[in-house]
Amino acid sequence: MRTPLIAGNWKMNGSARLVEEFAAAFAKASLPQKLDIVLIPPFPYLDAAQRAFAGTPLALGAQNLNAFESGAHTGEVSGAMLAEFGVRYVLVGHSERRQLYRESDDDVCARVEAALNAGLTPILCVGETLEERDGERTMDVVLGQVKVVMDRLDGAQRAKLALAYEPVWAIGTGRTATPEQAQEVMAGIRAYLKTLDTALAEQAILLYGGSMNASNAAELLAQPDIDGGLVGGASLKIDDFNAIC
Ligand code: PEP
Repeated sequence: MRTPLIAGNWKMNGSARLVEEFAAAFAKASLPQKLDIVLIPPFPYLDAAQRAFAGTPLALGAQNLNAFESGAHTGEVSGAMLAEFGVRYVLVGHSERRQLYRESDDDVCARVEAALNAGLTPILCVGETLEERDGERTMDVVLGQVKVVMDRLDGAQRAKLALAYEPVWAIGTGRTATPEQAQEVMAGIRAYLKTLDTALAEQAILLYGGSMNASNAAELLAQPDIDGGLVGGASLKIDDFNAIC
């Protein structure tokens, strides 16, 4: 049985105060026993979050990492640095990184490898644009993004990855994929993983992301191939994020 995972991506939002408020609220929240919860604040809050989340069910994630271990990369952060601050998960290939900061599939592969080398769980984000969906290229695009990474990893590395299917047209738009649309793509991802290794397909944690909120989460999470959510906007509101969990 796969343990569900709910991850909250604050993007470039939040504050030190919000970190403290989440820690206080989740320390006393009543939550399912079998659930992993990750909050992913901006880099400057990781230190405070590591201390505030101790003793709460909240694990810590980061929004990106550099592919190099150290060196002349002004403005960048390495996997080892994240690990030093208690970070356990890291987003790789979020569509905002791919689109706004031109991160290529090659960058994404290198970052996934760097995350694994640092002992972090990469949450590999994949998803199609509206144009690609309208052109009936959804499965090709999504499986292409998954495959390019899987091709670079060995079996043990593949087993350590979480995947987030995030249709680009659903991120931050209030336009959620229907549960059927999300399930169809995510079943396709799992079927592809099965061609690599049956156990990998059965154990892989697949998240849906794209305008998930307290009202639509239950229906999405009820789908057989959706093991959790990558939540953006709604992860900034304690009550909403708690309700999704
Ligand atoms: C995200 O940032 O990964 C995301 C899914 O955002 P939102 O929930 O706001 O659409």
